[in-house]
Amino acid sequence: MRIGVLALQGAFREHIVTLEALGASGVAVRLPEQLGDLSGLIIPGGESSAIGKLMRTYGFYDAIRQQHGAGMAVWGTCAGAILMATEVLDALPDQEALGLMDIAIRRNAYGRQVDSFEADLDVSGVDDGTFRGVFIRAPWIESVGDGVEVLARHDGHIVAACQADLMATTFHPELTGDPRLHRYFLDSVVGA
Ligand code: GLN
Repeated sequence: MRIGVLALQGAFREHIVTLEALGASGVAVRLPEQLGDLSGLIIPGGESSAIGKLMRTYGFYDAIRQQHGAGMAVWGTCAGAILMATEVLDALPDQEALGLMDIAIRRNAYGRQVDSFEADLDVSGVDDGTFRGVFIRAPWIESVGDGVEVLARHDGHIVAACQADLMATTFHPELTGDPRLHRYFLDSVVGA
């Protein structure tokens, strides 16, 4: 199974390492032409405005929407989750999102870089105990549409959700070495 990781900015290498450990083929995606034969795409954490600018420069907005329409699953982590949303609260004035997933997400919801933290999460569909969530200047999901399943909350705020072949997590599952959320994406979201 070929899974792309958008490799414009941010924590993409760690996702590729985790995918390869699970037996999938992780592809660093730098140009829209590379999206063609992927079963899934991960948009990593980093800085959503920086990733978004590069996406615009290279023509990724339409290409990702088109490939998703043709069956490519998409998972956004942290900044990537912001880029997937239909509505971004506290966005920069010119910030553009893909509008793929029916969620409203609040950028930098917990405050500044110093307000980054880790917490144990109960994630629906992920067995064998809690999942360590690494939140780095993270957003939270403020509200979800009807077709969206909430997978995890922290302090009442939604931090993981799924909508058919789309998934969003506001923390960084690639930084803990725990492959269970990547396994969930491959098993339950890709090909959903
Ligand atoms: N605060 C960042 C943003 O707005 C997201 C941080 C992250 O991806 N760890 O894009």
